[in-house]
Amino acid sequence: MAKCSFCSKEIEKGTGKIYVYKTGKILNFCSMKCEKNALKLKRKPIKFKWTKGEK
Ligand SMILES: [Zn+2]
Repeated sequence: MAKCSFCSKEIEKGTGKIYVYKTGKILNFCSMKCEKNALKLKRKPIKFKWTKGEK
């Protein structure tokens, strides 16, 4: 199962997004929120409480 490249949450099949760089690097995102933060704002996941992935 793929994990979100931003918050490390497991991504359920059929959900989430995959972003592929021209260099071949692949990022998986569980939600628009993560995609936006990672790609547009270039934020570091460690700074955000909601990335902890508490169970
Ligand atoms: Zn995520």
